[in-house]
Amino acid sequence: MTVVAATKYVSVAEMAVLAEAGIEVVGENRAQDLAEKHAAYGDTFRWHFIGHLQSRKAKLVSGLCELVHSVDSESAARRLEIPALVQVDLAGEQSKSGVAPAELDRLLALGLEVRGLSTMPPLAPDPEASRPYFRRLRELARARGLPELSMGTSQDYRVGAEEGATYVRVGSSLFRG
Ligand SMILES: *Cc1c(COP(=O)(O)O)cnc(C)c1O
Repeated sequence: MTVVAATKYVSVAEMAVLAEAGIEVVGENRAQDLAEKHAAYGDTFRWHFIGHLQSRKAKLVSGLCELVHSVDSESAARRLEIPALVQVDLAGEQSKSGVAPAELDRLLALGLEVRGLSTMPPLAPDPEASRPYFRRLRELARARGLPELSMGTSQDYRVGAEEGATYVRVGSSLFRG
């Protein structure tokens, strides 16, 4: 399992501490922050994109990252030039990012190199509340022969790991100490 340090609250200058601490993989939410931090640190880290991907940023992100965790639109999928995970909205929260499970196969058919799936369960005080969502994601991925699962944040990464996560995305708990 790979721990992706979610760095949306970390400034360009503070990223140096992560490098010293041995963090290898970082996940950015915004293309502009990604570009600034990549310009400063380059190959010090492996860069993932974990935020909502706008199609007009797909080219920029493709040039800087090795993996996108959060593809959820056909337009972005068509412009992306690197491997990706498709983000699935399992709670049916239409305001959230992610495709409905019923739309998944349409995105998988576009020719993008899809390695797996990711999800963000509804925020809940009890990490156990995430378990059914992680199980469902694993089933969707297994049924399609997709090996990678990005699931779990500071809140529920242990549950994610127990349910077969290959990536967890951890921000606040890493930096609060
Ligand atoms: C911020 C963020 C995380 C990390 O969440 P924490 O609660 O800070 O661990 C994971 N995934 C995405 C998409 C995020 O935006």
